[in-house]
Amino acid sequence: MSSLTVQAVDVYYGRVHALRELSFDVHEGEIVCLLGNNGAGKSTTMNMLSGLVRPKSGTVRWGDIDLATAKPWDIVAAGLVHVPEGRRIFSTMTVHENLLLGGYTVRDQKLIAQRVDQVYALMPRLAERRKQQGGTLSGGEQQMVAIGRAIVGGPRLLLLDEPSMGLAPLVVKQVMETIQAVNAQGTTVLLVEQNARAALRIADRAYVVETGRATLSGSAAELAADARVVDAYLGG
Ligand code: ATP
Repeated sequence: MSSLTVQAVDVYYGRVHALRELSFDVHEGEIVCLLGNNGAGKSTTMNMLSGLVRPKSGTVRWGDIDLATAKPWDIVAAGLVHVPEGRRIFSTMTVHENLLLGGYTVRDQKLIAQRVDQVYALMPRLAERRKQQGGTLSGGEQQMVAIGRAIVGGPRLLLLDEPSMGLAPLVVKQVMETIQAVNAQGTTVLLVEQNARAALRIADRAYVVETGRATLSGSAAELAADARVVDAYLGG
């Protein structure tokens, strides 16, 4: 079992104290969501897990890997794949080419082709648009490509930073259903979201992050019913 454990982590950007004794964990097979407003420290947490930002103190372990000191490429090679905020797919490449790029760490070409087929099975809309240029896709389709590209890397733990950002409610629903389907096929998911309503619908558990700290945690159902969450994140 490869659980992710974050314990009492502090991250600074110069004098800015972005994460303050942040603690949370993600068990294998779960979808866990970090909820929080702008500036709460969600992206910093994701960047810290992928080795792009280093904690000043605290423990970050995923199975037997020490994420606080491991090199970013070793972290990717171990199966932790980060889909950063803002999608960032290649706009002049086709959907298919974008997906193939997700296999850049995978040597076995047959395996890459199999995973691309798996993405098309999961997201038929991408299969229909496989020859279309990335830049001409809708926001939701681009988000699907970003998730699909991550799947081609064969993630064991998928980090998704604000996948619903800028998408219409119906499209958010489709993206969330896709995340659920990816999880059902065996990938553990850590999801960062400002859209608490959408995220709590698919998450097993969630944490509320405020100014770099986890201030509330529980099952998604518990948090969705918690008056503090309802007031602050679910619009009363
Ligand atoms: P958002 O939803 O707006 O992306 P967030 O929860 O992801 O917010 P972070 O981007 O992690 O928040 O930022 C946490 C805090 O760290 C904020 O106060 C932010 O201003 C600060 N911060 C983030 N990146 C840097 C940086 N490179 N240099 C200095 N401060 C930073």
